[in-house]
Order: sequence, then C-alpha cells, then structure tokens
Amino acid sequence: MIYPTSLLKVPKEKNMQFRKTQNGFIVRLIKGEEVISSLSSFVEDQKILGGFVFGLGAFKDATLGYFDSAKKEYVKNFFKEDMEFGSLTGSISYVEGKPFVHAHVVAGGPDAKAYFGHLFSATISATGEFFIIPSEIKIERKADLQTG
Ligand code: ZN
Repeated sequence: MIYPTSLLKVPKEKNMQFRKTQNGFIVRLIKGEEVISSLSSFVEDQKILGGFVFGLGAFKDATLGYFDSAKKEYVKNFFKEDMEFGSLTGSISYVEGKPFVHAHVVAGGPDAKAYFGHLFSATISATGEFFIIPSEIKIERKADLQTG
C-alpha cells in the first residue's frame, strides 16, 4: 500500500541550535552531529572570520591525535565508547579558503581518567555546548614546514 507522504511519520530532522550574544555565539550540538564538521559549517554559515571556540559535553566515536614531532605525524587513538569532554579548546581559521577548526580536548569515561588529544572527529552522544568568540580580522593558516 502506498500512503500519501503527508500521513507518514517522518522524524523531524533536528539540528544544532545557536544564539548570538554580544561577544559571540552559543552553539548547541545535538546527538548524532559530528563536532568538527558541524562547527566548521557553522563558521562558514555565519561568515565567522576566525577566532576561538570552547566547549563541553558528551561524545562517542572520538578520534584523538598526538603529534609525534620527530616523525612529523599523528598517532591516532580511537574511542568508541561514550565520553564526557570536560574541555574542548580550539582556534578557528581558514586554510585554502575553507574554515579550519583546530580543537584539542580532554575527555574521559566512568573511571574519571582523562584522555587528551587533537580532535580529529567525534559524534555527539548526548549534547555539546560551545561558545565561539569571533575575531574581527580573517585568520588564515599556511602549512609550517617545521611542524608539518
Ligand atoms: Zn592539534
């Protein structure tokens, strides 16, 4: 049987919520949203030129990196389980015209031990609260030959 689409219960697509404040933006990501790509598209949508981001919340499927400066490459650690992140701190800039959110996090699970790393990606498992402080000037990054 074919139902008219208006009778089908289509789950309403939930998305990030945000509010503009005097100094920046308060952004709330919801369950299922990937942190770095969601923040990057928010930066693009709001035409933020650069700045800083701070956050806290809970995520899963997190890939955290440690940069081995001798080898000039990241050691990546993957955490499938739910973790709370007590601190996400990052900068917002542009690389080759695209927004680049560079974030580091401290996160942990029920044993209260902290893991740290460069945040490659993570999916919000409960909620994520972020505060973005934009800069008035455009911040652009170029690859550093010393650090890669
Ligand atoms: Zn980093």
